[in-house]
Amino acid sequence: MKRVHSGEPRRLLGPLLAELGHDFGLPLGPQQVRDRNRHHGPTASGGRSDHQGPGYYAWAADIPAMSLLEGDRIAGDCADYLHLHWPGAGLHTEQRTYGGRLMQVQLIWRADGHWRHVHVGAHRLDVAPPRVRFP
Ligand SMILES: [Zn+2]
Repeated sequence: MKRVHSGEPRRLLGPLLAELGHDFGLPLGPQQVRDRNRHHGPTASGGRSDHQGPGYYAWAADIPAMSLLEGDRIAGDCADYLHLHWPGAGLHTEQRTYGGRLMQVQLIWRADGHWRHVHVGAHRLDVAPPRVRFP
């Protein structure tokens, strides 16, 4: 998998999602992820979600998994691409630098509400959160 990492979350995740979409036959093109994020809203606890963007600050995608084995492969591919110390299951949060910018990345799989899709998201830590564009 390509590892040319951008310092903007939407550009960071774009090549990963395109490749997963290709490999697993999933609708993960830029416009498809954007359309889904537009309707996502905040987290279950009411907090700001990486799905809410905007893409230069934060981005996320929910990747559907047809089986636990497929989800394991998808999560593993995400972890490889993002160089995460992924334990293989759960809600994993890690801070890493991509394209020269410090980000917080989250990978969720085999956890509450994440048995049928893998969540991968990132937001920057070098700037304050801008106003939420997608309510
Ligand atoms: Zn999600």
